[in-house]
Amino acid sequence: MIKASIAFSDTDKFWDAVVIGAGPAGSTIARLLSLSSRTVLLVDRADFPRDKVCGCCINDIAAGVLSKIGLEDLLSQQNAIPFSQLIVCESGIKARLQLPTGFALSRSKFDAALIRAAIASGVSFLPRVTARVQPSDESERLVKIQNTSDRNEVRAKLVIVADGLDGMSLSELPEFSTVAKENSKFGAGVVLSYADTFYEEGRIYMACSNHGYVGLVRIEDNKLDIAVALNRDFSRQSGSPALASAAILESAGLPVPAGFLTEHWTGTNTLTRCRLSLSGERLFLIGDACGYTEPFTGEGMSWALLAAAHMAPLADAAIEHWKPELAPLWRRQYLQLIGKKQNVSAVVAACLKRGGLRRLCLLALSAVPEIARPIVDSIAARKMQADLTIPDGSNIFVHSRNEHAVKN
Ligand SMILES: Cc1cc2nc3c(=O)[nH]c(=O)nc-3n(C[C@H](O)[C@H](O)[C@H](O)COP(=O)(O)OP(=O)(O)OC[C@H]3O[C@@H](n4cnc5c(N)ncnc54)[C@H](O)[C@@H]3O)c2cc1C
Repeated sequence: MIKASIAFSDTDKFWDAVVIGAGPAGSTIARLLSLSSRTVLLVDRADFPRDKVCGCCINDIAAGVLSKIGLEDLLSQQNAIPFSQLIVCESGIKARLQLPTGFALSRSKFDAALIRAAIASGVSFLPRVTARVQPSDESERLVKIQNTSDRNEVRAKLVIVADGLDGMSLSELPEFSTVAKENSKFGAGVVLSYADTFYEEGRIYMACSNHGYVGLVRIEDNKLDIAVALNRDFSRQSGSPALASAAILESAGLPVPAGFLTEHWTGTNTLTRCRLSLSGERLFLIGDACGYTEPFTGEGMSWALLAAAHMAPLADAAIEHWKPELAPLWRRQYLQLIGKKQNVSAVVAACLKRGGLRRLCLLALSAVPEIARPIVDSIAARKMQADLTIPDGSNIFVHSRNEHAVKN
């Protein structure tokens, strides 16, 4: 278990930044700000390590960002499993696509490792605490925090909301409401101990159908991660997300692993949603908290890490001296950096919804896998260099690595 690095009662001071949510987005931006000598409080309502519904595929861009911010050993230290192939199946059609090398690692290990790195850089971490952002005044933003026995109010020059898809930390500020897409799928998942040999290391398996898709990948310690996106009606009619997912696997011609129907599954909110606003007075949003599209291309963690790295210099400037124009500036930067990638993901998701088109694509891909190259490339590392150069020409990653070296 990761212990709190600060007592609840000691949070009662004026922080440079309070970060809500310790997923990849929150712990990364918290760490980068702490490496810039800022005082940072990172809170999460969960206890860590914790699992989370996720395909657990850390793509090459995400791995690249980790290297650039001085965490190049994190994945190997956690025994992440390299993968380089995607196998997509439906109704007996099977297409194999080569991917740039990524890494499969459970969210329980990945998120815990990022939090430990944040604590090591000086971040004050408080788990099992729910936070709610309050309206701001000119000089500070207030956040109410609460655990099972106590309540407190913390004050900060800047609040960063990284509370994910299901977060409610902005529920008292109607201008930050989210709008969910009608008929959007929801997510569900389970991690199984997996001794069988069918699902091999190094490959992502994806079963598709009109009702949703099921992704399976081998992660560390001989486990199998299963993450699905399902139509609600189909899940209801099938009896449960597990039964619905088993039906999709069977119709795709893939085996249902042992434990699939008996282990405890967890679920998510509606997946495709957007947030009315991405920033406000002394307030920036990041990661899934900004909105999300269906996860077929498995990029959410890379978006979270990239956005954190890009936000760091802006957040640093906002802490130094808040100016109202910083809020729209973050919105523009975010949309430019992540919005375009989400559009590609949305196009893929839209194509997947059309059964005939999907099967046609699969047939074409199974015959000529190279035709997927433009999509894979648009998601892949080729663009990373541009993504990792921040607008003013300096480079936060070099900066953060130097800071890291100085602190150590
Ligand atoms: C089915 C599915 C499959 C996916 N597969 C992949 C994949 O293979 N690869 C990939 O890169 N991405 C994948 N994703 C997306 C990925 O899981 C997310 O994009 C990623 O977790 C976003 O990180 P985050 O830090 O923004 O939010 P999260 O990881 O969701 O973290 C948010 C944190 O905020 C905390 N929190 C919420 N509210 C509060 C509050 N009020 N107070 C305090 N704490 C709070 C939560 O406890 C949580 O720990 C998948 C998603 C789904 C649903």
